[in-house]
Amino acid sequence: MRVIALLAAISLAQIAVANIVNKACNKNPSTCACTTLSTALPGRVHFPNSTEYEISNQYWSNRQAEIHPTCFITPNSTTDVSVILKTLTRLSAPFTVKSGGHTAFAGSNLVDGITIDLRLLTSITVSPDRRTVYVGAGNRWINISTALDPLGLAVVGGRVSDPGVGGLILGGGISYFSGRRGWACDNVRSYEIVLASGAIVTASPTSHRDLYWSLRGGAGTNFGIVTRFDLVAFEQPTPLWSGSLLFPGSINTTLLPLYQNLTVTGLPSDPDAHTYLTSIFLPSLGGYILLTDQYHATPPSLSDPSLTPQVFRPIASLPDPISHTTRLANLSTLLTAIDQPYGARQTWWNTAVRATSPSLLLDILSLHEAHVTRLLAVANGSGSDTITPFLTFQPIPVNVLQAMQTNGGNALGLEPADGPLMIIQSATTWTDKEIDGAVEASTQKFIDAVNDLARKRGLDNGFVYMNYAGKGQDVFGSYGRGSRERLRRVAREYDPLGELRRLWRGYFKLW
Ligand SMILES: Cc1cc2nc3c(=O)[nH]c(=O)nc-3n(C[C@H](O)[C@H](O)[C@H](O)COP(=O)(O)OP(=O)(O)OC[C@H]3O[C@@H](n4cnc5c(N)ncnc54)[C@H](O)[C@@H]3O)c2cc1C
Repeated sequence: MRVIALLAAISLAQIAVANIVNKACNKNPSTCACTTLSTALPGRVHFPNSTEYEISNQYWSNRQAEIHPTCFITPNSTTDVSVILKTLTRLSAPFTVKSGGHTAFAGSNLVDGITIDLRLLTSITVSPDRRTVYVGAGNRWINISTALDPLGLAVVGGRVSDPGVGGLILGGGISYFSGRRGWACDNVRSYEIVLASGAIVTASPTSHRDLYWSLRGGAGTNFGIVTRFDLVAFEQPTPLWSGSLLFPGSINTTLLPLYQNLTVTGLPSDPDAHTYLTSIFLPSLGGYILLTDQYHATPPSLSDPSLTPQVFRPIASLPDPISHTTRLANLSTLLTAIDQPYGARQTWWNTAVRATSPSLLLDILSLHEAHVTRLLAVANGSGSDTITPFLTFQPIPVNVLQAMQTNGGNALGLEPADGPLMIIQSATTWTDKEIDGAVEASTQKFIDAVNDLARKRGLDNGFVYMNYAGKGQDVFGSYGRGSRERLRRVAREYDPLGELRRLWRGYFKLW
């Protein structure tokens, strides 16, 4: 009798504790989930004022780094990610995911909730036949090239050392090798992904095919957390050739038509070539400068870097550049050559136009100059000392659009018949938080003006590349109705209860 009474008392106490926990969880699900997971996954949950928290809280853009989540969770394995997602959905705790932390806008990585930082998922394994590299989702691109360069192998990946593989591949991924092979998302053999339910699934052209298609440009946000990318590896036994040319802005009426012609005829005729062109306002160099970087995966000479590939010669032979450098280098060297330091505020926006008219590109340059004038007025008005606006033209020639069609195509909604296209990317770096709103407003005005102008001339396309998009841009709307509806159907299938829609905060969502 006494035993029964004791047991009853224990269960009543347990119910009371569960009620207290439930109430606490209802009141503050983030804190509750952090505490629950610190018991379930010892050593993997990091609270403010700890060294591990500070390590996770490093972001390229200060607009991210200044926000502090309740805790960071650093899973060590796919199973850990599964435990985390099951717990977060059960407790209704809001979360987001960080791979390399290179998104410009706030709210992409950090929320007033939980950030799952994938930085421990850094495995890199090459298959015995050298055709596949299995890559953990917390890797940076420099890790991959450092592992592959000595083997004479490469993958279609990022062009800068520090961004993460996660965000770059799931949004698309423009690479030095895109001319022949498409974007990074077109060169994933399979994705290991943890769904909202905690189930671990492999999506490939033969298994979960709709999910595989969706992950090629549809972002993780809507489908689950990718823990491993199985990437197509290919032989890259030689260094790459690269050339960098800096011109005064005054050459624009000569340079832009040549660049447009390169996009339309040069690049499709030589799929190993890759390039972009940037206009930067730098008063220290006298105002506007034009910088074009050029890359080639099969150099014309392995001993003489000054031998420029044929496709780039019309631009390389323009007179009087401010500087002109060429080199032969492996991928790791090229990746580290473009340094984009941490510690400033950033915004990136973009749109795409048809690349068939040199005068459109020149007029876009003028619109950018009006945007720069607005930004300088804002910065001077606030007494802010530094603001650097960039405009980058990134070609999507027809050969890239064709290469995107492999394995059933991707979710970006781009067809070869749409091309050739030019991504118009506006980026600004500044320091003063007070002018965030004005910088965003001016950038939106610039992008709207570009779209209006292109529309008037019948040269609009409007594709918004997720990885360069501003927070408010309608990325999935720009993929076209068919693509967005299919993505939504697949998201409903793999997240039938809408848990990711409800709990995954920030970044680009389908609804
Ligand atoms: C210096 C610099 C150089 C760049 N170079 C290139 C380039 O060469 N080519 C190019 O195409 N783009 C480039 N970008 C853009 C870049 O692709 C995007 O900023 C991209 O989002 C960065 O990925 P990340 O993992 O570092 O970012 P994060 O901010 O960590 O990730 C972005 C979002 O992706 C989601 N996500 C990340 N990992 C996962 C995962 N494993 N599973 C599910 N969802 C996930 C999260 O929602 C997250 O909010 C560059 C950006 C910078 C700042």
